[in-house]
Amino acid sequence: MSNKYGKVNNYINGVFVGTITDRWMNVESPLTGEVIAEVAVSSKDDLDKAVSAAKEAFKTWSKTPIKDRVQVFFRYKRLLEENINELSALIQEENGKTLDEARAEIEKSIELTEFAVSLPQLIQGEILEVSKGVECRTEHAALGVVASIVPFNFPSMVPNWTIPNAITLGNTMILKTSELVPLSALKIAELLKQAGLPDGVFNIVHGEKEIVEAICDHPDIEAVSFVGSTKVAKIVYQRATSNLKRCLALGGAKNHLLVLPDANPEMTAANVTASMSGCAGQRCMAASAMVAVGQTDHIIEKMVKEAKNVIPGKNLGSVISKAAKERIENYITQAEKDGAKILLDGRNYKVEGKENGYYVGPTIIDFVTPEMSVAKEEIFGPVISIIRSRSLEDALKIENANPYGNAASVFTQSGGLARYVMENASAGMIGVNIGVPVPREPFSFGGWNESRFGVGDITGKSSIEFWTKLKKMTTKWNPEAGINWMS
Ligand code: NAD
Repeated sequence: MSNKYGKVNNYINGVFVGTITDRWMNVESPLTGEVIAEVAVSSKDDLDKAVSAAKEAFKTWSKTPIKDRVQVFFRYKRLLEENINELSALIQEENGKTLDEARAEIEKSIELTEFAVSLPQLIQGEILEVSKGVECRTEHAALGVVASIVPFNFPSMVPNWTIPNAITLGNTMILKTSELVPLSALKIAELLKQAGLPDGVFNIVHGEKEIVEAICDHPDIEAVSFVGSTKVAKIVYQRATSNLKRCLALGGAKNHLLVLPDANPEMTAANVTASMSGCAGQRCMAASAMVAVGQTDHIIEKMVKEAKNVIPGKNLGSVISKAAKERIENYITQAEKDGAKILLDGRNYKVEGKENGYYVGPTIIDFVTPEMSVAKEEIFGPVISIIRSRSLEDALKIENANPYGNAASVFTQSGGLARYVMENASAGMIGVNIGVPVPREPFSFGGWNESRFGVGDITGKSSIEFWTKLKKMTTKWNPEAGINWMS
């Protein structure tokens, strides 16, 4: 059924509302190419309304004790668990990933919320008597109204990287969804309300560039977190910080997996394949380049066999849009023209019964050289480029030369070589015999280099610094003066 969800409104002060200019854009399901909704395209005036509501709500929310604030997220976690089937189905429909992948996203959102409810234990301040009768103490104070701008590839998990932590820490929030996948956020708003979050604490504005720029410029927004491509991360970071805001902007990635000849062939083939094809390669942690060191043909053969079992429409979802499908296929064609060898070709894939869906099959490209576009650029599809290298030193040089730095992994059975790669790879998250080295809570998530602009990480303990400011208090009481007064 076409346009089954109708109009996707903003969410301001606890109410779903249309935009002032009444502009809308279509939302397609990438599984079928059908329009399933129309999403509001917001302007600066819509943002003003959301910020006013969030500013008003901040007065009470920031003064609510954290032990009370956290109760909302205990209930929210339970609601995520109770609604996991419906939430996963919605993610699948708007994003195109498989139902299992969508479910894993909600499971991760639950884990993120579990971390948030532990925050009272983590944000205790410090206190010390520094001289007779004089005490210094610290407290983490909320910032005010904060904004979170998110990408299309995780419609629930990435919003939940920021919502539970920022709000538990006393801030009020404006979420800017991806215009490609705005539906899951509405469910988040409904569940937060059901969990007892006061109106105005969490708000949503939908839209594109215009609303992102308005967020970066708004004088009453204190901090902006952004997750998306490097191109836009740079724009947002520069614009928000030039307006003197705190900003953490996570960008794109080109994750290199170094495969050494002594790696366990079965485990390596399974892990690399799952990493490059999971979520149709649309993960900022996906394996994108494999540097095969020395004699690794036996592992590559196993990978091709493994990848042939990854079937679009069955255990491989679609990519997000027609444009994405075309972009990914063009990269493969260019690699072929440049002289690389296509070991497995996912172009022109049609899924029976879903001929209009945007599917790309798993693709393995061998004998890629570092100057080819498939070696240098983020493809964001189920494609892996294999670069052959003679030594570990050369492999590390290739990894280090790429401008991104989200993740890197090494596959080997040698502890010493693994340690060497851990020390010398230039990425924020490193895996050993792991294809998708996402740190689990309470560890923090965040890359290096052109994969992250700003200080600190977006989840886990590191996020406390981003979402709060430290108040330092010094007090002096003369106990003897008190005794004299009493007598
Ligand atoms: P994107 O950069 O196109 O969009 C991200 C957000 O920015 C969206 O909300 C979008 O509406 C907005 N936007 C788009 N163009 C803009 C512009 N010119 N000015 C201002 N705002 C703009 O990213 P995407 O395609 O939605 O997501 C995929 C990208 O996100 C990939 O590069 C992926 O690696 C990256 N990503 C990174 C991480 C990470 O943790 N580093 C996590 C998830 C996704």
